[in-house]
Amino acid sequence: MRVSQQLTTTLREAPRDAESGNHELLLRAGYIRQLTTGVYGFLPLGRRVLHKIERIIREELDRVGAQEVLLPALQPLEIWQKRPANGRPSRAEAMGDELFTLRDRKGRALALGPTHEEVVTLFAREFVRSYRDLPQLLYQIQVKFRDGLRSRGGLLRTREFPMKDLYSFDADAEGLDASYRKIAGAYRELFKRCGLNFIVVEADSGAIGGKDSQEFLALTEAGDDDAIVCQQCGYAANREKAEFARGELEREAEAALEEIYTPNCAAISDLAAFLNVPVARTMKAVCYFAANRLVMAVVRGDLEINEIKLANALYAAGINAADLHLATPEELAGTGIVAGYTSPLGKGEEIFILADNSLRQGNNFVAGANRVDYHVKNANYPRDFRVDRWVDIASAYEGAACARCGGQLRSMRGSELGHIFKIGTLYSDLFDVTYFDAEGMARPIMMGCYGIGLPRIMAAVVEQLSDSRGIVWPFSIAPYHVALLGLDLDRPEIGAAAERLYTDLLAAGVEVLFDDRAESAGVKFNDADLLGLPLRIVMSRRSLKNGGVELKLRTEKESRVVSLDEAVHTIQAAISHGLG
Ligand SMILES: [Zn+2]
Repeated sequence: MRVSQQLTTTLREAPRDAESGNHELLLRAGYIRQLTTGVYGFLPLGRRVLHKIERIIREELDRVGAQEVLLPALQPLEIWQKRPANGRPSRAEAMGDELFTLRDRKGRALALGPTHEEVVTLFAREFVRSYRDLPQLLYQIQVKFRDGLRSRGGLLRTREFPMKDLYSFDADAEGLDASYRKIAGAYRELFKRCGLNFIVVEADSGAIGGKDSQEFLALTEAGDDDAIVCQQCGYAANREKAEFARGELEREAEAALEEIYTPNCAAISDLAAFLNVPVARTMKAVCYFAANRLVMAVVRGDLEINEIKLANALYAAGINAADLHLATPEELAGTGIVAGYTSPLGKGEEIFILADNSLRQGNNFVAGANRVDYHVKNANYPRDFRVDRWVDIASAYEGAACARCGGQLRSMRGSELGHIFKIGTLYSDLFDVTYFDAEGMARPIMMGCYGIGLPRIMAAVVEQLSDSRGIVWPFSIAPYHVALLGLDLDRPEIGAAAERLYTDLLAAGVEVLFDDRAESAGVKFNDADLLGLPLRIVMSRRSLKNGGVELKLRTEKESRVVSLDEAVHTIQAAISHGLG
């Protein structure tokens, strides 16, 4: 391709709406353009990167026996409205406004697929009859639609995005384990081939439900995910899932409940200082509302409530947490609860109370008095308050103790690349998908689902590998392998030599982007660094005088001269070395 004929041009300045390093670079270099909030187009260079990523994904998934399909994005809404028997909401209810819905001309309700568990299960139902038809691994690379609340600039939270989704179908739990391990292995391989530095963490399985679940996270400060990692035993989990040991708190002799006037103590730290007690001997209570019920979450004062853990604890208790939100003043009216001074003291069954396990250690806690400017000392369970469920609803944090080995937990920032789940029989039960085993018994099919967001790979590679001058693509997913910069092209002998080399490279099958513009050397060098192609070749008056062309890797500082006779061969060798 010639730069002079390319659709895109580079931008000198960072666009004002750029949110992170990778977003700014991809915009400036002309890989992507935003159309509206959370909706991006991929320009020719960006499309080539996606193609490379897709090729790697296909190779690794085909290698483990997966078969590619293409499922419809337009889906009947009713398949999203089926309610599982386990008390969880339908997926349409769980997703709420995140699900794009529309009506056709006959008034039938449709959804734009945010994922394809339902559709693929319906398809599998038609073809899987007996245990001999299992296992199956089906995948597709297709555009997904999600009207996410957190949609923002950049490629991390978009509303329309190409995704690879894969679904496994097995006869039993052992089969599912094997499929899961197979795909996890393929994921490690393909992320490695994309040049990424990543970790695998235990993850929350969210509204889908299910058992084991892991996330592949690219380590980057610009990420939107938090991982908690134990450096001693290797335990790693998403913060929304991470377990940790609650610090020991000594039990004292139970003292009498005592109400105290505590002015200007809105913050827990102020309160602890005012009463001269450690923050860990205070109790923090927050009121939420879910499924038309008032819910109180209580944790020790030194910990934070994790709303995802809270939602999961509610689902486990049979309460639909799809609309979980902080209770509004209207919802609190008449309950005797005073925001800022909330506590479970004296609260009856009208409020569902979930207490974090941290409150089982220690006693004589300071708690809100459900009265402005008042707290109580020496709140003790079960003497002074009731609890409906003891649960883990506190966020793990940097420096907390590992629940497995007692080692110190570290917090790491990352960006989710892929997510794998063991779903089990959730969808087979929902859509009545069974197979006949060897004895002729009908059994539900076990499913797993496995996703990868393609633009996230692109963004993470740029974030991890770029430098102050621009993007640094690995050979594996670079849009072109070679940037051929022609300088002094208005001199006939140089112009002719550059054209010849370009033609020879194309004939040799080299992916080359030829900067043939009448721009200055400075502009061409800057653009080449910004675009980030892994190998740069310069042909100029100086290079020819020195005996040929200058060859330099994007990651190197110094170039070397290669004779014109050897240029094509040397470039090919450098590319195959780079591709590994
Ligand atoms: Zn550990």
